[in-house]
Amino acid sequence: MLIDTHAHLDFKDFEKDLDETVRRATDAGVGIIVNPGTNVSSSRKAVAIAERFHCVYAAAGIHAHDVANYLEESIDAIADIAQHPKVVAIGECGLDFFRDYAPRGKQLEVFRDQIRLALRLKKPLVVHSRGAEEETLQVLTEEKAELVGGVLHCFGGSPDQALRAQKMGFAVGVGGTLTYSRSDRRDFVANVDIHSIVLETDAPFLPPQPHRGKRNEPAWLPLVAERLAETRSLPLDEVHRITSSTAEALFKIGRAGFWRASSSSTTDPVSR
Ligand SMILES: [Zn+2]
Ligand SMILES: [Zn+2]
Repeated sequence: MLIDTHAHLDFKDFEKDLDETVRRATDAGVGIIVNPGTNVSSSRKAVAIAERFHCVYAAAGIHAHDVANYLEESIDAIADIAQHPKVVAIGECGLDFFRDYAPRGKQLEVFRDQIRLALRLKKPLVVHSRGAEEETLQVLTEEKAELVGGVLHCFGGSPDQALRAQKMGFAVGVGGTLTYSRSDRRDFVANVDIHSIVLETDAPFLPPQPHRGKRNEPAWLPLVAERLAETRSLPLDEVHRITSSTAEALFKIGRAGFWRASSSSTTDPVSR
C-alpha cells in the first residue's frame, strides 16, 4: 500500500472526475491520500473531500503564494478547520522565494504563525519550500518545529539539509521529478536515509514520466515508487512498506492512527 502524502484534490482540475480519480488511486494501490489546503477556502474543501472518502485526509493551511491577502482572522479560521478529526497536519505553509508571488516579509510572518499554530494544536507541518531551503530550516529551528515535525514536501534541497530536517523530525517528500531523465533527485534519494522519505504526487502538478504535460493524479504515484526502488536497489514492496510507515507515523494515520478504528462508522463507497 502506498500513501500519497500531497495531492490537491480540492483544485478545480479534479472537479469533474473526483470520484473516478480517487477510485483509480485505490485501484493502483494508493490506499491513503493527504490533501493539503492552500488557503482558508481550499482547506475547507479539503476537509469536505476527506469527509466524503475514507482514504482521504486533509491538512489546513495557507500557501506562500496565498499570503498576500492574509488577514489576522485567517489563522483563526485555519485553527477552526484543524479541529476536524481528519485534519492530520497544518499546511501547506512555507516559503517560496523562487516565484516570489508574495512579499518575503509577509511569507515569513504567515509561515511563523502557522508553525506556532501547529505547536499549539500538536499537529505536524506540511511545508512548501522553493528557493528557500536554508531560510525554511532556519525558521523551523527558531520556532522549535521539532516539537511537532512534519514533511518538507517536494524537497529540492541537499542530502545534508534533509539530514538536518530529519533531526528535527521532518521527512522529505519525493515525487514525479524523480522520474525525469535529468533530475538531480536521483542522486539525492541515493544519499539520504530511506526512512526519511515519503512519497507524493503534488497532483495536479509535476506528473511523472511518461505522463509529463498531463494533469497529475494520485494513481500515478507507483511510478515514483518504482523509480525509488530502482535507484536504491530495493525490492518494490520494501519501498512501499518503508515510505508508508514513515508517512503513517508522521501523520498518525493508517496502522499508526486512531482513524482506522472508527472507519466502520463512515460511509465510503471507494475504499471498501
Ligand atoms: Zn507546494
Ligand atoms: Zn502543494
